Amino acid sequence: MPVAVIDLGGTRTKFGLMDEGEVICASSCPADAQGSLEGHLDEILEHLGKLCPGQGTALEACDGIGLLSTGLVNNREMRVLSTNGKYDDAVGFDFRAWSRNRTGLELRMDNDARGALIGEWRYGAGRGSGNLVMVTIGTGIGTAVISEGKPLTGPHFTGGNLGGHMLVRSGGRKCTCGGVGCLESEASGWVLPILVQEHAQYGESSLNGLESLGYREVMKHAAEGDGCARDVLDHCLQFWGEALVSFIHLFDPERIIVGGGIMNEPEPVLQRFRDIVSELAWAEEGQVSIVKAEHPDNAGLIGAGALFYTAARN
Ligand SMILES: [Zn+2]
Repeated sequence: MPVAVIDLGGTRTKFGLMDEGEVICASSCPADAQGSLEGHLDEILEHLGKLCPGQGTALEACDGIGLLSTGLVNNREMRVLSTNGKYDDAVGFDFRAWSRNRTGLELRMDNDARGALIGEWRYGAGRGSGNLVMVTIGTGIGTAVISEGKPLTGPHFTGGNLGGHMLVRSGGRKCTCGGVGCLESEASGWVLPILVQEHAQYGESSLNGLESLGYREVMKHAAEGDGCARDVLDHCLQFWGEALVSFIHLFDPERIIVGGGIMNEPEPVLQRFRDIVSELAWAEEGQVSIVKAEHPDNAGLIGAGALFYTAARN
């Protein structure tokens, strides 16, 4: 039987059915991170209930519910510990009881970055290795680690997850987490428009006046020779590449999997990372491969389902 899967996002929530590594149907709806989590989850159950008959099953007949959430997640008691300003009622919410009461199904959950890595480990770019780091560079930066065949969790459930909040510049920019000079506040999707607008040549830049200032725009304008776009992209790539060097030094991975919005055009990004690693990492040439995520669109759903097929859990 399939697993009902939910990827609870800050702006959109994806959901669907997953069977042994394959998403057999999926859909999404807007998330209201300022609103009530319980109401939102009930709404998703309703959507799932409608999806199931199309696959010849009923929601109650599924093997369980796999759920990934932003924030820090206690993946033993299936609770959210901290959300960084999203879904105020998520902390303390009993996900397991909610699932049992509404559907009778067992629920497993994890942090979204750790879940995405578990999905890639089982069904994607991490297959065959038990020593992986995954870095998802999107609006923020998510990280997760699998070490010696086990997802790293730690006693406070932050193990491997806070790489985006690794301090990379003393006295740097203020971060959403309360820190200063985090990787995410120096180079990420949310700080990108600020970096562009603060650049000395922004006035003459072809990025000036664009409504959206994301990775896509900055990469396109950099490739077309715009100096401001090139400098900002270069600044970010250098910070991220150096962060990968630190992850290699900390976790000794065989493979680093890179996902997120920055991977719309993966090759130049991966090449730059390989060059920085080759220059700066204390590692033999070729010791660590740097690859792109295989499931950029469905990483969350595949990861949520993989929680049910992953034996190496505690
Ligand atoms: Zn931070």
